[in-house]
Amino acid sequence: MQNNKSNIVVVIGAQWGDEGKGKVTDYFAARADFIVRFQGGNNAGHTIILDEKTIKLHLIPSGVLHEQCKLVIGNGVVVDPRVLMKEIKMLKEEGLSTNLLISDRAHLIMPYHVDIDYHLTNYQNELAAGSTRSGIAPVYADKLYRHGLRITDILNKDLFRNRLKKSFDFNQSLVEGVFKESFKHSFEEIFDEFYNYGQELSPYIGNVTEVLSAAMKENKQIMFEGAQGACLDVDHGLYPYTTSSNTIAGQVEAGAGIGINNTKKIVGIAKAYLTYVGRGPFPTEIKGDLEDKIRDIGQEYGTTTGRARRVGWIDLVQLKYANQLNNFSEVILTKIDVLSGLKEVKLCTGYLINGRPASGVPSDIESFKNIEPIYETLPGWSSLPEHIETIDQCPEELKDFIAKIEEVSETKVSLISYGPDRNQTFKL
Ligand code: GDP
Repeated sequence: MQNNKSNIVVVIGAQWGDEGKGKVTDYFAARADFIVRFQGGNNAGHTIILDEKTIKLHLIPSGVLHEQCKLVIGNGVVVDPRVLMKEIKMLKEEGLSTNLLISDRAHLIMPYHVDIDYHLTNYQNELAAGSTRSGIAPVYADKLYRHGLRITDILNKDLFRNRLKKSFDFNQSLVEGVFKESFKHSFEEIFDEFYNYGQELSPYIGNVTEVLSAAMKENKQIMFEGAQGACLDVDHGLYPYTTSSNTIAGQVEAGAGIGINNTKKIVGIAKAYLTYVGRGPFPTEIKGDLEDKIRDIGQEYGTTTGRARRVGWIDLVQLKYANQLNNFSEVILTKIDVLSGLKEVKLCTGYLINGRPASGVPSDIESFKNIEPIYETLPGWSSLPEHIETIDQCPEELKDFIAKIEEVSETKVSLISYGPDRNQTFKL
């Protein structure tokens, strides 16, 4: 893949997640000294294929195959210690790296947060965001209420008892009073379980700001690994059909606790088409046989949930917006092979809302529901060479497709991924 000019690389999904970030982060991971997650929780996921075995990780950053690499969970990540312990155990069993550093400021997903996520999904009904029900939204809410529990809290028995009491009582009232459900947790059991996690995890817990600051002074290679995608951002996505965190590059500093301005390279990952797992409106959605065909060829099923993803044409209004939000240094375009063999391909280049041209992505659902995509239809490419070194080997139709993406989204595509294999990439 491309030369890594900057020591600090931020990798961000440019759409609604599932853009194929895994392959790109894996490439950077091989050279990184640090890989840092800065938002989200175990609602993300990446898959590692080890000989015959498939290992799925949801919380620990990419890079477990690289011993040299410190895997950092920043303060902006919400941590379910049950999931974390399970992942650590799995990695140890496979002889993989557990070279972890977990921010003492990261918030903890408690068992009742997971329950509340279920209750919330029922309560919010059609406005539910299609949550993975891992407790992420409830824990971020508790963080803002200021009775959230941080990792640092479980290291001190007395402090933890007091803080847990506040969080436990509040959440019990919420479950019983608002959701009218029974609260099935025992304070003492949770207290013991989580205090023990603190003891077991203490070798991994530390001050991420200090560590990353020292690493930057030593010119270490640091990769910040975004989860989900820019267009699921809680502020800039289609609220309320968003994820529960800020997913754009601007979140790196808040969620990792390190100032990186002026030194970073921001790489956006975009897929040649679009997928979406939520329930919200999806202007470029494809229905029927073509949807099934793209889903099957692209293997568009959730890593965490196994859910079939909805499929649509690439939306360049959305990609342009992602670029405005992130200021991508470059964009990597993935999965172009999945569209091979189509007679024509479509790209959404503009929106009509209630019959009128709209500029930008609307903030409200009603307008979003009424989007009528303006498409540019281009001839498709029948097939791709088995091995591609340069764009010159590619069909003209693919060149036109890429050029249209760059023109409308005002981005620079730097690299193309044309298959799941690590080597199936070429630079532009
Ligand atoms: P992520 O969450 O952004 O990493 O995206 P996913 O996990 O949904 O996508 C990763 C899947 O897409 C993996 O199975 C990859 O092997 C596969 N993949 C990545 N790039 C390509 C590509 O260019 N072509 C094809 N066919 N598959 C790809």
